[in-house]
Amino acid sequence: MSKQYDVAIIGGGISGLMAAYRLVERNPALSVVLFEKGHPLDRRVCPIVAKKVSTCIKCKSCAIMEGLAGAGAFSDGKYVISTEYGGWLTEFLPDETVIDYIEQADSILVSFGATTERFMPNNELKKRCLEFDLHMSQAQLKHLGTDSNFDTMVHLVDSLRDKVSLLTDTCVTNVKKDAHIIEFSNRDGDQTCTADKIIFAVGRAGSLFFSDWCEKNQIPLSNNQVDIGVRVELPSMVWEDFAKKIYEPKIHYRSKQYGDIIRMFCFNDRGLVVTENTNGVLTVNGHSYRDESRKTQNSNFALLSTTNFTQPFREPIEYARHVASLANLISGGSVLVQRLGDLENGRRTDEKRLRQGSVRPTLSAIPGDLSLCIPKRQLDNIVETLHALDQIAPGTANYDTLLYGIECKYYSARPKAAEFEIDGCNGIYAIGDGAGFTRSLSQAAANGLYVADLLTRP
Ligand SMILES: Cc1cc2nc3c(=O)[nH]c(=O)nc-3n(C[C@H](O)[C@H](O)[C@H](O)COP(=O)(O)OP(=O)(O)OC[C@H]3O[C@@H](n4cnc5c(N)ncnc54)[C@H](O)[C@@H]3O)c2cc1C
Repeated sequence: MSKQYDVAIIGGGISGLMAAYRLVERNPALSVVLFEKGHPLDRRVCPIVAKKVSTCIKCKSCAIMEGLAGAGAFSDGKYVISTEYGGWLTEFLPDETVIDYIEQADSILVSFGATTERFMPNNELKKRCLEFDLHMSQAQLKHLGTDSNFDTMVHLVDSLRDKVSLLTDTCVTNVKKDAHIIEFSNRDGDQTCTADKIIFAVGRAGSLFFSDWCEKNQIPLSNNQVDIGVRVELPSMVWEDFAKKIYEPKIHYRSKQYGDIIRMFCFNDRGLVVTENTNGVLTVNGHSYRDESRKTQNSNFALLSTTNFTQPFREPIEYARHVASLANLISGGSVLVQRLGDLENGRRTDEKRLRQGSVRPTLSAIPGDLSLCIPKRQLDNIVETLHALDQIAPGTANYDTLLYGIECKYYSARPKAAEFEIDGCNGIYAIGDGAGFTRSLSQAAANGLYVADLLTRP
């Protein structure tokens, strides 16, 4: 006979874990199951990071994106204490409520070992940016560091072990919306269970699964934004001034040529560029360690051009996947790296030119030509923005600055919902990045706590 739970959480990222934590904290008698299609934390080893292979071999479950602690497990652990960026929760909740939940999530993380140090906003740097029409977001920020962030998540997961059924390597394949039957599959085969309340917390790795499920169940979805661009890598001293004062410069620029918004974010001081595999497509990202001995000579950041599609096009995620797949195709199943100078001079970076460059790449990517896969509009935007950034951090637009492609952020289609309960689905909720409500650790965590509070309200 299939098991019956009070609450089932689909996805073991920070939103799902925080929801589980709060549910059993508020009511220890609740029976809660959490399904995670990836591995437990101790088995989340990317073969590239373990230096077993040099390029992505497209593991069945991507250790970087999937597994307990979700996409944030190997992240830099930048924790934004602000509503200025990091998601859209303020479209549903008052600002103060979102900040309150972000603070609550932070206190929980601190109780599991996260640092208490905060970087504060800096007006002098903001002013320096404004002089060149660059707009810097101001936020309180914590930097846990990849290593300490991982340890914090290990402790959080350990605290749940005897209170929540944590089913790892278990993929939910369907949810029957009226009967609340959850179909899942793991090494014991295909199984089912039921739950009074169900929370989709599937993250970006599960966004296709979730949007397919919504479409199948006639739940209206919205979202037409996609951000496409590159990961920029350069000597750490170029952005040292910003890194020391605020840790993460988050800057946006409106290009003169097209009037598009281009965002610089996800800055990693003395970090590493990494690949990530989302639903079979290889893209780039970055992170950095807190441990001094694991720091590199380079810093990296994302530089992405935002496109908001208009009617009749409604598939921004597919668009981004196609662009990223093109880079995978021409690099023979990997990602590309190119020097900015080569890109601007219309020539491919090859192994020899890469070796001649002064920036040593931290990721083994295929030297190539990004102009063969990034659409002209986005590429022009990126080059123009690099030159704008060069005015506040000279050296940003040097010839040898490395550009890795493709980096893209696609925001999961957002279901119609009220208080995160999906339209027409009694007792079924959606939270976090996978539902298009958030795009950061702090807001995803806050979203999980908020919905758990709703479910345990007397
Ligand atoms: C390399 C990297 C670095 C990042 N750095 C930062 C940072 O420094 N600061 C920041 O704020 N944000 C960062 N982010 C973004 C941050 O990780 C996400 O915003 C956050 O993890 C979202 O949490 P989530 O719980 O919504 O989803 P996720 O963390 O993506 O978790 C969702 C989980 O659901 C599982 N899942 C999906 N479908 C199913 C299914 N059908 N059955 C069972 N399980 C399923 C997935 O395997 C995954 O583990 C980074 C992301 C990456 C990839």
